[in-house]
Amino acid sequence: MKKRIISPLIPEHQPLVIAGPCSAETEEQVLETAKALKQDQRVNVFRAGVWKPRTRPGSFEGNGSKALPWLQRVKTEVGLPVAIEVANVKHVYEALKAGIDILWIGARTSANPFAVQEIAEALAGVDIPVLVKNPVNPDVALWLGALERLEKKGIKDLGAIHRGVSQFEKSTLRNKPAWQMAIKFREEVPTIPIINDPSHITGNRELIGSIAQTALDLNFDGLMIETHPNPDEAWSDASQQVTPEQLSCILDQLIIRTDET
Ligand code: PEP
Ligand code: MN
Repeated sequence: MKKRIISPLIPEHQPLVIAGPCSAETEEQVLETAKALKQDQRVNVFRAGVWKPRTRPGSFEGNGSKALPWLQRVKTEVGLPVAIEVANVKHVYEALKAGIDILWIGARTSANPFAVQEIAEALAGVDIPVLVKNPVNPDVALWLGALERLEKKGIKDLGAIHRGVSQFEKSTLRNKPAWQMAIKFREEVPTIPIINDPSHITGNRELIGSIAQTALDLNFDGLMIETHPNPDEAWSDASQQVTPEQLSCILDQLIIRTDET
């Protein structure tokens, strides 16, 4: 079965690469990252978190609406489509008003059917691609349900992001990959593209390449990799971000299968 390609904005391309910082910190950081990423033709979409769903209060929670014009500059001056996370109706309206190209629903929000339903209703009839991260808990039905809520409101360009699930035991990985969850998801909906997020699975930049390779070996359709000009100084998720140059090296080393098996 032929997969739908996410958004006419994005050329048919395997794998789809979404890159950019965990958080849009400053206008300079956003533009510097985007310009560097643009040098690598394999990067299709620029990502940045504007509203950040932090697990506990007291850490950087995003610049909010103030950062939207920075992303507009990435779109118009750098020439990359831009993607942000939305977690409520206000975020959706502001993102649409700012001309954001792609929205994604984060792992804490996709676990909440009320929030997803409100977002779906705010997007009713809007022609914009929406990606849904798997919920923080290993519940394939909840993940599928979130996509179904969007589909029922007429969203046609849907994609899934596999970012692993929370775990109680300490591990070398920040989140348990739960590959079976992604495999099951794909069995249920083979037409929805699935993108792997090795940044949030690993929490560790050294391990991103190997998780990304596993995803490609499993025929994932794309990768979302957090990228920052100075990762150690990042305001969120510092240990998992890579520089644009490191991202290019990771992509160089990946073995990309071209067959449709
Ligand atoms: C993110 O992509 O920066 C993020 C907050 O991810 P997740 O929802 O997977 O935790
Ligand atoms: Mn992050």
